[in-house]
Amino acid sequence: KIALEHIRKAYGQTQVIHGIDGEIEAGEFVVIVGPSGCGKSTLLRMIAGLETVTEGNIRIGDQIVNNLEPSQRDIAMVFQNYALYPHMSVFDNMSYGLKIRGLPKDEIKRRVEEAAKILELSPYLQRAPRQLSGGQRQRVAMGRAIVREPSVFLFDEPLSNLDAKLRVQMRLEIKKLQERLGITSVYVTHDQVEAMTLGHRLMVLNGGNVEQFGTPIDLYDKPQTLFVAGFIGSPA
Ligand code: ATP
Ligand code: MG
Repeated sequence: KIALEHIRKAYGQTQVIHGIDGEIEAGEFVVIVGPSGCGKSTLLRMIAGLETVTEGNIRIGDQIVNNLEPSQRDIAMVFQNYALYPHMSVFDNMSYGLKIRGLPKDEIKRRVEEAAKILELSPYLQRAPRQLSGGQRQRVAMGRAIVREPSVFLFDEPLSNLDAKLRVQMRLEIKKLQERLGITSVYVTHDQVEAMTLGHRLMVLNGGNVEQFGTPIDLYDKPQTLFVAGFIGSPA
C-alpha cells in the first residue's frame, strides 16, 4: 500500500504539485493521467525517490520513505527510455540489477528464467538487444523490473516509443502481468484510452492538482469537474 499525504513539490519558487492526497491499495493498479506538464512524472519520481518531496509524506507499507534512497525503497521502475545495455545479452540485461545487489548466482538464474517464462522471452536469453523486436525489448525492460521482486511497480509512459499496434498489444500484456503477479502498480500516461483500459482507478491530474481519483466507470459516469468530463470524453 502507498499513501500520499498532502504532497507538494516546488522547483525553486515554482510550485508544480499542490498538495496531493491519495491511497493506493496493495495489489491495486492506479494510473496517473493528465495533460503534458501537469506533474505526473514529478509525482512518480517522488514515489521512486528520484525527486525530493517539498512537503508532505509518502508512505510505502507503513514506512515513511521521504528520506530513503531509491535503492532502499521496495520498488522497481520501468521508464519510457528503457535503454538496454547493447553489448550485453538479454540474460545479462535482466540480471544486472541483481548482480550489483550481490544476489547468489543460482538465485539470479532462477529469477531471470522465471521472469523470461512469464514474458515469453525464454528463447531469447542469449541474444543481444539489437536482435529483438521493439516489443521484445520492452518485455526485457519489464523483466528487469520483475526479477527484482519488488512490492511496487512504477511505470512512466513505458509504451510511448512503440508503434500504435504494439502499444495496444503490450498494454494488454502489462495488464495480464499485473493481475497475475498482483504487484501494486502506479502507471503514468497522458493517453486516456490507455488509462481507462489499464487502471483499477485513475488519478486525474491537472496543473499539479487532483481533479478526481476514481474507477474508470466513476470518471465516465460521474465526472466531478468539467475538466474530467472533457478529458475522459464523456458527454456530461
Ligand atoms: P509529460 O506528459 O509531458 O511527461 P508530466 O505531467 O510528466 O508531463 P512533469 O515532468 O512532472 O510533467 O513536469 C511538471 C512541471 O514541472 C512542468 O511544468 C515542468 O516544466 C516542471 N519541471 C519538471 N522537472 C523540473 C525540473 N527539474 N526543474 C524545474 N521544473 C521542472
Ligand atoms: Mg512525464
